[in-house]
Amino acid sequence: NKQVILKDYVTGLLKESDLDIAEGTITLNLPEGSNEILLKNLYLSCDPFMRNLMSDIPDRFLPYAPASPLAGYGVSKVVESGHPDYKKGDLVWGFTKWEEYSLVPSAQILFKIEHTDVPLSYYTGILGMPGVTAYAGFFEVGLPKKGEKVFVSAASGAVGQLVGQFAKLSGCYVVGSAGSKDKVDLLKNKFGFDDAFNYKEEPDLNTALKRYFPEGIDIYFENVGGKTLDAVLLNMRINGRIVVCGMISQYERSQPEGVTNLTNLITKRIRMQGFVVSDYYPKYSKFLEYIVPKIKEGKIVYVEDIAEGLENGPAALVGLFKGLNVGKQVLVLARE
Ligand code: NDP
Repeated sequence: NKQVILKDYVTGLLKESDLDIAEGTITLNLPEGSNEILLKNLYLSCDPFMRNLMSDIPDRFLPYAPASPLAGYGVSKVVESGHPDYKKGDLVWGFTKWEEYSLVPSAQILFKIEHTDVPLSYYTGILGMPGVTAYAGFFEVGLPKKGEKVFVSAASGAVGQLVGQFAKLSGCYVVGSAGSKDKVDLLKNKFGFDDAFNYKEEPDLNTALKRYFPEGIDIYFENVGGKTLDAVLLNMRINGRIVVCGMISQYERSQPEGVTNLTNLITKRIRMQGFVVSDYYPKYSKFLEYIVPKIKEGKIVYVEDIAEGLENGPAALVGLFKGLNVGKQVLVLARE
């Protein structure tokens, strides 16, 4: 049972050499009376939060253990089940491990896949955790109104590309920032953003934002933190909302970057709110009702970056922090 393991806790930048490919063992028969589920992992999701679980911080909510396989979201097929709700052959998405086969407790986050007339890999992205993140963050935390001005950072990624499309479907004006010319082209030409810019080529982000938002920003969908957040704070409108989804620029720092423009929260009456996607899982079926027809009608598109094989998992994961992924980073282990 091939696995990707964390060699030891990580400080600073994640490197491929912090991870290793190992050979584990697994029993392919569940013991009598077991409540567990044996999964064959098909698609693994590469997610920025995984880096946070690699640091040796005592209050981490779900620590990785050195010399053990990584855990994360994936799409899997049930090989054997001790739980009445799951049977052999069912397709599921949820929490699993970075290995070919995993034994998971039935209490694990696990959703049965009902719609199979869309790519299965979508359940690591648009129809899985990042999809719910974009939907809940934009609609429930951002509370968009028609005509509002929206800014999205890491805009071409798993979450960002959806936020931009939700904003357009809601009648908003939306601008995204991303880290390369190709990504900027995708934002404008594929996802329908009104405008987009490469933040790496902007000497001053405050000036750039003033160019795209001369009247200010109503909703900022925050994916990166740091200098971007600081510049956004200078450009928010009165009663604006900052949806704090993530701060990827801070995850590899031992000391977070200082944010200096927070007093704008007071004068501009800004609501800045974080959220955690799993709080919204009870609304997953409502989310599917919204998004599945839009995928089928071509009203929402989704771009994935596919890596093949567990051996390429470490590089795919490290690539997230270098901006190498174009769209949702998926790792394929098997297609059925
Ligand atoms: P992406 O697919 O967007 O991949 C990460 C991207 O972040 C990279 O491609 C890169 O794009 C950008 N990036 C990497 N390092 C930096 C940096 N130092 N400064 C600026 N940008 C950087 O990831 P996701 O869509 O999966 O996640 C987006 C955010 O959402 C993350 O912060 C994540 O932690 C958060 N999140 C939060 C959840 C919640 O429950 N609150 C749930 C899921 C995700 P580029 O080339 O454009 O720089």
